Amino acid sequence: MTRMSLRFGLILCAALGALPRGSAQDAPRKPLPQDRAEGARAIDPARAREYLGVLASADFEGRGTGQEGYRKAAEYVRAHFERLGLEGGAADGSYFQAVPWTMVQAKPAAPGLAVVRGDTPLWSLGVAEGLRGNASTATKVDQALALVVTADPDGADLEALDLKDRAVVVALVRKPDAAAPGDARAVQRLGMAARSRLARAVNQAGGRFVALADDLAWQGAGSFEPISRAGREAAGPAGSARGNQPTICIVRLADAQALLTALGEAQPLAELALPRKFTLDGVHVRLTIEVETGQAPAWNVLAILRGSDPKLKDEFVGVGSHLDHLGKRGETIFFGADDDGSGSAGLMCIAEAFAKNPQRPKRSILFMAFCGEEMGLVGSGYFARNPTVPLEAMVAELQIDMIGRNEEGERGEEKAEDNLDCLHLIGSEKLSSELHATCLALNERAGFAFEWDAEDVFYRSDHWNFARQGVPIAFFFTGFHPQYHKPTDTVDRIDYGKLARIATYVYDLAFELAQAEQRPRIDAEKWSGLQGKARETPAAPIRN
Ligand SMILES: [Zn+2]
Repeated sequence: MTRMSLRFGLILCAALGALPRGSAQDAPRKPLPQDRAEGARAIDPARAREYLGVLASADFEGRGTGQEGYRKAAEYVRAHFERLGLEGGAADGSYFQAVPWTMVQAKPAAPGLAVVRGDTPLWSLGVAEGLRGNASTATKVDQALALVVTADPDGADLEALDLKDRAVVVALVRKPDAAAPGDARAVQRLGMAARSRLARAVNQAGGRFVALADDLAWQGAGSFEPISRAGREAAGPAGSARGNQPTICIVRLADAQALLTALGEAQPLAELALPRKFTLDGVHVRLTIEVETGQAPAWNVLAILRGSDPKLKDEFVGVGSHLDHLGKRGETIFFGADDDGSGSAGLMCIAEAFAKNPQRPKRSILFMAFCGEEMGLVGSGYFARNPTVPLEAMVAELQIDMIGRNEEGERGEEKAEDNLDCLHLIGSEKLSSELHATCLALNERAGFAFEWDAEDVFYRSDHWNFARQGVPIAFFFTGFHPQYHKPTDTVDRIDYGKLARIATYVYDLAFELAQAEQRPRIDAEKWSGLQGKARETPAAPIRN
């Protein structure tokens, strides 16, 4: 069927409702060249929906780096690459480049948080009975108790109290009319705020902040869940590996009431004149927490389609997405369907297209699903400092992050239905006008309404770690929406037709760059103007 009849055929079908919504606009405007058309047929909305349905499933728990959900996602993408017959892209030939990521599992020893007089236990609370909190270092407390009761979440009224050398348990009696915050994140924020302010106030009063009794903070707290954080090497010179978090126990107000009773004080907390401090001779807080550390699930998943040209096969076109998202926080899963489940599903489709295309391009293609992007571009930063292919041989890095939606303003100022064709092309002209020109030329086939970088996201995804090394980059992004970084970024909101269309365009672009005589060069003037460069001379050749 020719293009004209194809077009007429599509509209007719659409009119007959035979095809899903927008299918007429999901197909590339013009067919792809013969040398890559066959492979492109492997990219379709149904396949993208299948892959994204798994990546953004409850089972993968929002793919938090260092969490079990990320291990599942990495394994899923690895198996996909292996099934396609692609080579492993890691230095050891496997598909996993391990990124130093420490998992710290705190284990409060029985009976948990305890209050004793000499060796006589007066009160205790274990994890099984509701003790919550977190710790990243081994902790031992055996110190005189001060139970402090306050109604001020900022702890301003604690300054007057002498808490010197005391292990302090703070009971926060919130005002009954205090409005309950809307969503889980607001609960967590309020709880965290009280924790840090009361901790500061107790420390200033000379005490050691051991526990907070506050129902709001308790709701948003985990039960000594494993803490995962980037290792120093992963965080790199500029990055800051998250330091040790102070040990803190979180209990409910009712637990503090029970403690007060155990200390022989029967009055309800809410009826006390506040602030109030309770200490008794010989009464101590006891708490022992052991920690186990290990490598957490944090890998860049890498695969190579080896090029066909004896010489050019040693040059690479990089296609990247980030596989991680915010993960699971307490009981809340951040599914990250668009961010960046859509890009990772797109990456899987593009890899499939290359693997199924009868003709291999001259240069090689490196497929990269990064970890730790949400923690500060950690996985791609580690790759750029420990590249498994020479950065000098990487002719471009094409980044796809959030390609599954139509841009939508928080307050309706921008409507999704006005952005069905919209695609942000970011950073391509920041380093290489030659790469930028190729992006524009191939859009003749794809037919997107390009937007540029109004949102200033050039530094906010993995391509930046390549740009600062002097690798020409192009970043593709469909824009923000009200569900960005919320648990509501779910698969039912994704425009699969658009996702497949963008994946087809990026496949076409990668193929073009892999076939081209001349690789894109860095414009000398642009390079000299680039802030935050990681090296003096760019990895790619310069064009004066
Ligand atoms: Zn993202």
